[in-house]
Amino acid sequence: MNKVAHYLQEHLSGEVLTSQDARRHLSCDASILTVTPSIVIYPRSESDVRKATRFTWQLAERGKVIPITARGSGTDLTGAALGEGIMLVFPAHMNKILELDPKTGGVAVQPGVNFGKLQQTLYTHGRFLPSYPASLDYSTIGGAIANNASGDKSVKYGATRNYVRSLRVVLANGEVIETRRISKRELGKKLGLGTMEGDIYRAIDGLIEENKDLIEGSVKDVSKNSAGYAIADVKHKDGSFDLTPLIVGSQGTLAIVTEAVVDTEPHVPSTSLMIAEFDTIESASEAVLKLRASSPSPSVLEMVDQNLLNFIDENNTNQLKGAVDKPFSKVMLFIEFDDAKHQKKAVKKAGKIIDSLGGKYAVETDMDQQDNFWKIRESVSTLTSYSKGETRHLPIIEDAIVPVEQLPAFVNGIYETFESLKLDVAIWGHIGDGNLHVMPLLNVGQVGDRQKIFKLMKTYFSMVISLGGSITGQHGDGRVKAPFLVEQYGQDVYALFEQVKSAFDPHGILNPGVKIGVTENDIKPLFRKDYSLAHLYDYLPRL
Ligand SMILES: Cc1cc2nc3c(=O)[nH]c(=O)nc-3n(C[C@H](O)[C@H](O)[C@H](O)COP(=O)(O)OP(=O)(O)OC[C@H]3O[C@@H](n4cnc5c(N)ncnc54)[C@H](O)[C@@H]3O)c2cc1C
Repeated sequence: MNKVAHYLQEHLSGEVLTSQDARRHLSCDASILTVTPSIVIYPRSESDVRKATRFTWQLAERGKVIPITARGSGTDLTGAALGEGIMLVFPAHMNKILELDPKTGGVAVQPGVNFGKLQQTLYTHGRFLPSYPASLDYSTIGGAIANNASGDKSVKYGATRNYVRSLRVVLANGEVIETRRISKRELGKKLGLGTMEGDIYRAIDGLIEENKDLIEGSVKDVSKNSAGYAIADVKHKDGSFDLTPLIVGSQGTLAIVTEAVVDTEPHVPSTSLMIAEFDTIESASEAVLKLRASSPSPSVLEMVDQNLLNFIDENNTNQLKGAVDKPFSKVMLFIEFDDAKHQKKAVKKAGKIIDSLGGKYAVETDMDQQDNFWKIRESVSTLTSYSKGETRHLPIIEDAIVPVEQLPAFVNGIYETFESLKLDVAIWGHIGDGNLHVMPLLNVGQVGDRQKIFKLMKTYFSMVISLGGSITGQHGDGRVKAPFLVEQYGQDVYALFEQVKSAFDPHGILNPGVKIGVTENDIKPLFRKDYSLAHLYDYLPRL
C-alpha cells in the first residue's frame, strides 16, 4: 500500500483499499471508457470525505495533485464516474434516508441511497420523486443529483435540478458548506466571508454581474439540459442567489455532495395510458406539440420508432407478443395522464388530437393491462444489451435534446446521419421533451469503428447544435461529450464554465478530465478494448 493510502487508512473510519481487484472493479462505468483508480475509499461519514479532501488539497498546494472522483453505483454513461486518483464510493455506508418532512414533502438523504429504495419509501408516504432515471433500481440519488438525471415523467415534472432544495457539500479544500436559495441580504453576508465559501460566492457573483447578457443568451430553448454548468439559474432578478443549480449536473467537478434535501410530489398510482400510432414523424411531432399544450398535460410522452420494433421482432420476438401487431407503424407514442381529477377529460382531448392527425390509438386504465403496453417501451433493453461478436450498441450520442418544434428535422437528421455512415439506427425516448435516444452498433476495440465513433459524434452533434439543441439532455457531458461543449456554447460561454470550475477547484482536484478542458485526444487513450455492463448485470432488466 502506498504512503498516501496508508496515511488515509490511519485517519479515516471508512475502508481504504489499493488491492488490484477493488481498483479493477471500479475502473469502468457504463461508458465506453476505462480509467483505473489508485485508491478506493468507502467513506463512513462526511468527516471521512472532509479529511480525504483536506489532505489532497494540502498535497496540491505543494504541487502534487491527486484527483478525487465521487462515485455512486457507476451507471454513468459518459465516463464521469471514473478517475485515476482517489475514488470515494458512497453506496457502502453513506446510504441513509435521514428524514421525511410530511408537511413540505422534503426528504433529507445521504448521497449513496439507492434511488429505487428511496422511491419505494416515498410511495409508502403517498409521495414520489418524479425525476427518476430508468436506472433507478441500480443507481444512487447522489449520482442523479450530480448528473441532473431525468426520465419518462420529466415531460411534466422536469429534471432533478427542479427538485434539489438544498445541499451539504465538501469543497475542494475540505471545507463543508450548505447551499440553498438565499436572499440578497444573506448574499451580502456570504460575500464578506474570509473562507473558500466566500471566495466562491465572490467569484460566481462577479462573473454573473459582469456577463449578464452573455449568460442570458447562452440558455438553450430546450426543456432540460445537462451540458456545461447552469450559471443562468444561480441569481434571480430579485437578487436571490443559489449555488445548488451549479452543483446539480456538475458531475463531481465542483464539490462533493454529502447530504441533500430533495422535494417530492404527491403520487397518484392510478393513471390512464394511451398508445398512439402514426405513419409519419411529422404527424407524430404535431401530436406531441398539441398534447404538450393541452391541459392537463401528459405525465409521460414517450416514443419508439418502427426500426426499434423491427429490431426487437428479429431478436426477441416474444417481447412484443400480444402487445403490438405487425406491420409496425412508423412511430408509436406512449401517453400517460396522472392528473388525479381530470384523466377522463385529458384522454378524450388527446384522442381528438390523435384522430385529427390521422393516428390510431388504444386506451388502458387497468394497471395490469398497462404493463402489456409498457413492455413495448421496455423492450429497448433487448437492444441495449445486444451483442454480435464484439459489436455493441454504444452510448456516445445517446441523449441529445432539441426544441420540440424541431422534432421532424431532428428525427430526419438522425436517419440521414446514420445512413451517411452506413449504420443502422433505432430511435426511442422522451419525444415530449425533444430528447431522443440512439446507440450505434459498433466495436469499440476496432480502429475503423473508433474512427466512425468520432465521425458520428461530430456530424451528429453539429446537427443537434444547428437545431438549437444540446448535446445532452439527461446523462451529462462527462468525458465522452465534453469535447463538443465549445461548439455548443461558443468560446466566451465556455470561458465562463472554466472560471466556474477554477473558482470551486483551483488546483483541479475534483474529477479532472470531466466536463472542462477535455479534447478528443484526451479520451482516445481511455477507450475500452470491449464494451460491457458487466458490473451491472445483477441489476439490468431481464430479457
Ligand atoms: C441502462 C441505463 C439506463 C439509464 N437511464 C437513465 C435515465 O433514464 N436518465 C438519466 O438521467 N440517466 C440514465 N442513466 C445514467 C445514470 O444511470 C444516471 O444518471 C444515474 O443517476 C447515475 O447514478 P449513479 O449512482 O450510477 O452515479 P455514478 O455513475 O456513480 O456517478 C455519476 C456522476 O455523479 C458523480 N457523483 C456521484 N456521487 C456524487 C457525490 N456524492 N458528490 C458529487 N458527485 C457525485 C460522479 O462523480 C459522476 O460524475 C442510465 C444508465 C444506464 C446504464
